[in-house]
Amino acid sequence: MQNSKFQYDLIVIGAGSGGVRAARVAAGHGAKVAIIEEERPGGTCVLRGCVPKKLLVYASEFKKQISDSRGFGWEVMDFSHNWDNLNLSLKKELDRLSEAYKSMLSNSGCKLINGAARLVGSHEVEVNNKIIKSKKILIATGGVSYVPEINGLRENAITSNEALKLSKLPKTIVIMGSGYIAIEFACIFSGFGSKVHLVYRSDLPLRGFDNEIRKNLEIELQKKSINLYPNSKILSVKKKNQLIITLNENNKIIADQILAATGRIPNVKKLNLENVGIDMSSENSVIVDKNSRTNINSVYAIGDVTNKINLTPVALGEGHAFADREYGNKLRYFEYDNVPYAVFSQPPVSAVGLTQEEALNLGYELDIYSSNFKPLKHTLSGSEERSFMKLVIDKNTRVVLGAHMLGSDAPEIMQSIAIAVKAKLKKEDFDLTVGIHPSAAEEFVTMRTAKN
Ligand code: NDP
Repeated sequence: MQNSKFQYDLIVIGAGSGGVRAARVAAGHGAKVAIIEEERPGGTCVLRGCVPKKLLVYASEFKKQISDSRGFGWEVMDFSHNWDNLNLSLKKELDRLSEAYKSMLSNSGCKLINGAARLVGSHEVEVNNKIIKSKKILIATGGVSYVPEINGLRENAITSNEALKLSKLPKTIVIMGSGYIAIEFACIFSGFGSKVHLVYRSDLPLRGFDNEIRKNLEIELQKKSINLYPNSKILSVKKKNQLIITLNENNKIIADQILAATGRIPNVKKLNLENVGIDMSSENSVIVDKNSRTNINSVYAIGDVTNKINLTPVALGEGHAFADREYGNKLRYFEYDNVPYAVFSQPPVSAVGLTQEEALNLGYELDIYSSNFKPLKHTLSGSEERSFMKLVIDKNTRVVLGAHMLGSDAPEIMQSIAIAVKAKLKKEDFDLTVGIHPSAAEEFVTMRTAKN
């Protein structure tokens, strides 16, 4: 096929974080780019995930903060929360952000096409009953919530999409799962004053995180009076006036809402990928090589649809590197090692590098340094909240393999610690660094006694 037959150099499917970054950078390098989006631009992170979630986290924290302020002498009279006003503010901000995304795309010279896209060939995409031809196609459609098939669950459960825009605060909510979304929403709803029941099948929340972080998180969740149901299964959900949720051993919970926070799956349903012969994994993600290229030479994929590390900065990094490689003459690749991450629980969790369990499985001999303390603020606030920090050190080389924290400001602190871990600095480099006093972060450079 001749180049002249193509209307575009690149068609991006999906105007979320990764797709928009790839489209803008490619256009900046001189490519003719169209980006197709079924809804408004912004994607999961901006419209249905990170951003509205974090704003809800802030909103839900005030009740505790006001209560904490009393220990510092503030005499706070009665206060209440107006749910409608919060929803209105959130909506305004999301509208603003989506418009900003639209402007960014048009300012960078990308053509935004509104519609549902499907692949009909290795260079052809169908949208709004028209076929567009492009030299290259990038799939960046992200993920969608997964709800298991359990009697009455799919009919009655909300997912994080709905949880972010409820018309009123539930008095009682059951949350199924104990991953990122479950833990974040358990703290959000509890912060606003809902009674929260967290039902999960593992023994501790946040499977895959460092075990000591998980144990300390369990304690913090209990302090918030969140009802924990570890090693538990939901067997059925029935709707009468309220929801009746039946667990194993015939335990029943009556609630206003049930939130299924049971993972996300690649958003590929409408894309017609099998019919054009794109190789998919057993969990239906698009298989790509290190160039983000699928088995069809002209078709690429980035972000959650490839199910590697499902985080916004990873999709952004992959999209940027793709555009630089393909259109900017820069041979660079996204690096998947030491990607820092955070769960915006209250207090939050954040980490970078290996957990103690992962490091042991890889055969490292370890020195473990940890600190469990009451933050200075809570000496007066009356809050029982504690912080926990941990460094996982290779005993032989002294390199810091992992850093983990549960506590106020953990994500803000971990972002900088991630630079040191990425640079493979040693425990002695941490020791040589002077702490900032008084801060929680200084604990990371003042831990002196190792345990094995
Ligand atoms: P997670 O994969 O983090 O957690 C899924 C939870 O659902 C786990 O507790 C899992 O249990 C449970 N689960 C899955 N299937 C079943 C089932 N059939 N029966 C019972 N329990 C089940 O997914 P989330 O939905 O919380 O979040 C999706 C992804 O979105 C995250 O992995 C993350 O990549 C991203 N995200 C990131 C955030 C951030 O960066 N702060 C915030 C929110 C989401 P088990 O552990 O036992 O398998």
